[in-house]
Amino acid sequence: MPVVSASFPENLMNTTELYQEYVLPTYGRFSLVPVRGEGTYLWDEDGKRYLDFCSGIAVCSLGHCHPVLVEAIRKQASTLIHVSNLYQPPSQAELAQEIVEHHVGIAGKVFFANSGAEANDGLIKSARRYGQRRPAANGEARYEVITFNMSFHGRTLGSMAATGQDKIKQGFDPMLPGFRHLPFDDVAALESAVAPETVAILLEPIQGEGGINVASSEFLRAISALCKKHDLLLFFDEVQAGFGRCGQAMAWRAIAPEIEPDGISWAKGMGGGVPIGAFWLRDKLVDDVTLPSLMGPGSHGSTYGGNPLVSAASLAVLKQIREQDLGAHALAMEAHIRQTISSWNLPAITEVRGLGLLLGIALDATKFDVPEGKTAASVVVTELMQRGLLCPPAGPATFRLLPPLTVTEAEVDEALAMVHETLQTLTQSQS
Ligand SMILES: *Cc1c(COP(=O)(O)O)cnc(C)c1O
Repeated sequence: MPVVSASFPENLMNTTELYQEYVLPTYGRFSLVPVRGEGTYLWDEDGKRYLDFCSGIAVCSLGHCHPVLVEAIRKQASTLIHVSNLYQPPSQAELAQEIVEHHVGIAGKVFFANSGAEANDGLIKSARRYGQRRPAANGEARYEVITFNMSFHGRTLGSMAATGQDKIKQGFDPMLPGFRHLPFDDVAALESAVAPETVAILLEPIQGEGGINVASSEFLRAISALCKKHDLLLFFDEVQAGFGRCGQAMAWRAIAPEIEPDGISWAKGMGGGVPIGAFWLRDKLVDDVTLPSLMGPGSHGSTYGGNPLVSAASLAVLKQIREQDLGAHALAMEAHIRQTISSWNLPAITEVRGLGLLLGIALDATKFDVPEGKTAASVVVTELMQRGLLCPPAGPATFRLLPPLTVTEAEVDEALAMVHETLQTLTQSQS
């Protein structure tokens, strides 16, 4: 029986009103109502066209509704959408093989989740299992995971506690214990940081939400050496940066390619738009067993994790990224973007940070009229949207360029022309 209440208003509301009435207000949403996408373009309900350099925040690796992805979903949807992880659907195993053999290149095993936060929770749980197996000198299990200031690892109780940004945690105390945050890219701060209870270090090789901060190769190498010295697990959060976005299969490979991490988490771009996340554990020997075997039957699970529909979709996306070498294309587009922006000589831009198509344009906030409660980044992003370019901010004075890995040079030029005009217009009143 349907539930009917006389207190609900007549259903004559527009989309914005529906959100206000029925959706929890956790997001500060723009008024845009997108209804259709194709490649790098997105259309709103009034038929206005946008160049989408947000890509669902680095999710739509192949752009919107890529025929290869659409066909993979259509085919799998008409064959088998979901079965339990009590059984062995083939697409999940094929996807794990694709990831391990062609994108990580180090022997190990994958667990499938539904988001980046869940993938990081899985790494945190794995670290605790390792800390039980390899306790501190006094015999007590190790459990502490070191992460870094300005990091972002997700919104679950575990991944939020791991995150090194107070604004994410506000009002949700008590935090899950067992995390400590160090300054990012600060080699000197590392050495004295390891406590008896420390068991792992988790970091984004390129911080995404924190403003596009690229770790130096010295920093990654120092962390790797520290992990070896103190028997710590080294985990990379590649949720935003992995799978071609930074030009290489993985972001750390673009910085210190020889490092062999013990665990990696992913989500965002790996599904091209279907909700999937994953973590990988290296086949590292732990006494007479391996690290993945510490996560045995009953230790972890997810009803939806790696179901046939999302696994088939993700497999199609990852094969396309590999076979079309979209990482190399991302590097070519990065070079073109950097060259164009430096030719402008605009004082409003202080720096272009990032790798491949994970780029942050840092602004000189003093050059903009910023109303109370806004930031230079939000002012620029709002104006760009009005002109027809979507891109997300990253912190108060940086906005991101995250086009699909399939973006063409002509689309890049069209987007950059809008950026140039916008920055010139917004800084004209100043000098
Ligand atoms: C987005 C993001 C997450 C969280 O992913 P969700 O799918 O939103 O849970 C974790 N780590 C990094 C680096 C991210 O960019």
